[in-house]
Amino acid sequence: MLTLVAPPPPLSAPGQPDGAAAVLRAALTRGPLARSAISKVTGLSPAAVSRHAADLLAMGLVYEPDTPDGPPRPGRPRIPLDVDTSRHVAAGVHIAIPQLTYSLTDLRGRVVAMEQAPRRERPEQVLADIAEQLPRFLARRGRGRSVLGFGAVTGGWVDPEAGVLVENAALGWSDVPLRDRLQRATRLPIHVESHARALARAELLFGVAAEHGELVHLFVGNVVDAAIAAGGTLLRGRQGGAGGIAHLPVPGSTVRCPCGRTGCLQVTVSDRALGDAARAAGVAADLAGLVRAAAAGDARALELCRGRLRAVAHAVGLLVDMISPETLVLTEAVTMYLPELLGELRAELAAGAAARVHASSFGPHALAVAAGAPVLAAVHHDPLALRTARTAG
Ligand SMILES: [Zn+2]
Repeated sequence: MLTLVAPPPPLSAPGQPDGAAAVLRAALTRGPLARSAISKVTGLSPAAVSRHAADLLAMGLVYEPDTPDGPPRPGRPRIPLDVDTSRHVAAGVHIAIPQLTYSLTDLRGRVVAMEQAPRRERPEQVLADIAEQLPRFLARRGRGRSVLGFGAVTGGWVDPEAGVLVENAALGWSDVPLRDRLQRATRLPIHVESHARALARAELLFGVAAEHGELVHLFVGNVVDAAIAAGGTLLRGRQGGAGGIAHLPVPGSTVRCPCGRTGCLQVTVSDRALGDAARAAGVAADLAGLVRAAAAGDARALELCRGRLRAVAHAVGLLVDMISPETLVLTEAVTMYLPELLGELRAELAAGAAARVHASSFGPHALAVAAGAPVLAAVHHDPLALRTARTAG
């Protein structure tokens, strides 16, 4: 049953979520950090830092770690603050072709728990499975931590504002109202996001783009899409459509695309295409087998992997030329397990562009991190909003 309780009076003035977010961000990127240092970093007055710190402490988002001088004592101005990773978690599910990946991540984006389940075909079946599997996952792995919200992340065109998966051709899904359906089933705040943007959010908060906020994230899986961030803010585009690069032409490719053309990026370089090529060449039964064979030094497997990276390099070059980001992060299976092959891709690019290309900060945890990232992004963007949401929920 839902009980509505009047919210406690805020310690900070209403309409100032930016200050609390700035304090939390300073603790996230540089903590443990004394309040005086936070004041310097954020430009907030010492009084404002104290007020926001009190709010964040009360909410369990930051804590006062023991210092080498001994345990913290109230009233001492030099007691540092750090992000509290012990009390809250973000829950999430990543929906991919072969499986659902459930995860719990702490406030630093570190994976606390991860479990996978096979994915059934139709959206209704998958939503029913999530409604059934999530409570058990939380009961098994939550360890009494409070759940900040639930992220629902998948590849392709996703509208986070409406909470709708607009189109994921690889899944064969379109116009699925993920947020509405999951909100009813889970009673948690639901944050829907595309895989490419969810991982870009994680790179902005916890990864290579945390300092400068300028990023292009390119995801190559069964879906191929991009996310673009400037000044720490992600470009969404109309109905969340920004970054749809599935049909960029790849020179030399003759693969037919369902869109009617030939040589589109997604059909040329997707996981499915690479797995099919490995099977056709008799090198491996699937993508995982191909990567294993390449890791063992099989020349034909390595050449198939390199061929993919050369095709991806063309798209990387276009994105770097057009957007000129500080960093381009590539999340892709071959370089995830064989990072040395990133050199194959860099060799196709001009030197200036090559130096800005990095592999994902999250390696094999990318799916689990992506699932929780939209929840963590919302909390770090406006931590005080949680208090209102909890009191109302
Ligand atoms: Zn196409």
